[in-house]
Amino acid sequence: MSSSTPPRVLTIAGSDSGGGAGLQADLRTFFACGVHGMTAVTAVTVQNSLGVSGVSVIPAEIVAAQIETVADDIGVLAAKTGMLATAEIIEAVAKACDRVHIGRDGEIPFVVDPVAASMHGDQLLLDNALDALRTELFPRATLVTPNLDEVRLLTGITVRSYDESREAAKALHAMGPQWALVKGGHLHDSPECVDVLYDGETFLELPARRIDTKHTHGGGDTMASAITSALARGASVPEAVRFGKEFVTNAVQHAYPLGGGVGPVSSFWRLPRETLPTFGQKG
Ligand code: PLP
Repeated sequence: MSSSTPPRVLTIAGSDSGGGAGLQADLRTFFACGVHGMTAVTAVTVQNSLGVSGVSVIPAEIVAAQIETVADDIGVLAAKTGMLATAEIIEAVAKACDRVHIGRDGEIPFVVDPVAASMHGDQLLLDNALDALRTELFPRATLVTPNLDEVRLLTGITVRSYDESREAAKALHAMGPQWALVKGGHLHDSPECVDVLYDGETFLELPARRIDTKHTHGGGDTMASAITSALARGASVPEAVRFGKEFVTNAVQHAYPLGGGVGPVSSFWRLPRETLPTFGQKG
């Protein structure tokens, strides 16, 4: 007898060869949230724990074709974006999403994580693509999830306080998404990470404990993927964001060192230890 099909979700994102961030983090999080993950690959990065040393961008029509082919056959209950690399890819993604009803005017929730650079400062989006992100994807988004560096690039606002987080959420919302989430994780002088969620009328403040670790690679991807999984399971946007915040806080708490640089946050915390195989493990 076959099992029932889990909710199906799509990430439109880049590959991290080190397995810490990008679509690898997305798929791991989808698995831990009990949804079937699918990928439209936008770029292949040559990456380890020390940073990105090369990028090969996938042709825009192949990115669009990946979206359409899985949507037409398998179906998509919610989708997210990660690294989109170029304006051409962003434009192709917008058109493909319209065709398969992903996004604001279709019925399928669409989380736009406006990935611009890695935590090492490696560029993951060309400068001229910021405009395309604002004009092509933001108006189609159910939710946008920038960190404070991305907020500054997109709005020009440098956030140093919660009042400025609210001001930034308003500016992002004015670019067209249904909801804007300004993540407070990079506001380092605060004892808590407070995120601000705004729908054009009400601000919701979402606090979480700050965890002292340098291993936070893939944290943004993991949070957006957990949110997308919850949306595919029928959560409202505030419910999904609360779930994503709780998920990533635990993932940061369970982050592990990897290589000589920055290790990834861990979605493994969701898997009961006793389910993991033990075979006299080496290193
Ligand atoms: N590499 C890829 C392919 C990504 O998509 C991302 C983030 O979305 C990163 C690297 C950067 O992750 P971090 O900022 O957590 O280092």
